[in-house]
Amino acid sequence: MGHRRRRHAHVGLAGRADRFSAPLPQLLQRFRDSFPTPEPAGPVKRRGGPIPVGGLLRRIVSPQGLLVGDAAGAVSPLTAGGLDPCMRMSELAASVTFDYLRSGNRYVLEHYDGAALRRRYRIRSLMRRGLSLVREPSLAEFAFAGLRTPIGKAVAKRILFT
Ligand SMILES: Cc1cc2nc3c(=O)[nH]c(=O)nc-3n(C[C@H](O)[C@H](O)[C@H](O)COP(=O)(O)OP(=O)(O)OC[C@H]3O[C@@H](n4cnc5c(N)ncnc54)[C@H](O)[C@@H]3O)c2cc1C
Repeated sequence: MGHRRRRHAHVGLAGRADRFSAPLPQLLQRFRDSFPTPEPAGPVKRRGGPIPVGGLLRRIVSPQGLLVGDAAGAVSPLTAGGLDPCMRMSELAASVTFDYLRSGNRYVLEHYDGAALRRRYRIRSLMRRGLSLVREPSLAEFAFAGLRTPIGKAVAKRILFT
């Protein structure tokens, strides 16, 4: 018995809620209408939600518990990607929790320091602020064209995907 090849597509929008020109379902429909989309033959799942891109919180640990992932604000302010930072943070959280439970020494918790982890996001936070000033689609197109050049690709690799 062979496996049937399953085909699926993800269609979505993201943006700043305060700049949406219409309710999100309408914008999504308009976006879908802008290119040929076959009618779905199977189930359609809808999901969505706010992504915290304001930067990592400073206080993310106490003897009562610690915050990980979205709850701690560990999302790239630039790309809104939160899966990779969340996984990395979980490893540190697990090791600090283990050390704390084993030793009972609350100073161990200082290794889970939001202020220090936050520094990694500083350049990306600044870039987000810069990008939020871009309101002209043509300027955004120009910036993306720049990212396709060899230098742009090197910059993107370093800033967007690490
Ligand atoms: C539409 C969308 C698209 C995204 N696309 C990407 C992407 O392409 N790449 C990327 O890197 N990131 C993406 N993100 C961000 C990414 O999904 C999150 O940053 C990441 O999932 C955070 O993981 P988390 O474990 O911190 O939180 P979550 O994945 O939100 O997990 C929290 C869990 O806790 C559960 N929960 C909540 N309250 C309670 C409670 N009281 N009791 C028990 N359980 C509870 C929730 O049901 C949930 O399962 C996207 C986010 C959204 C909304």
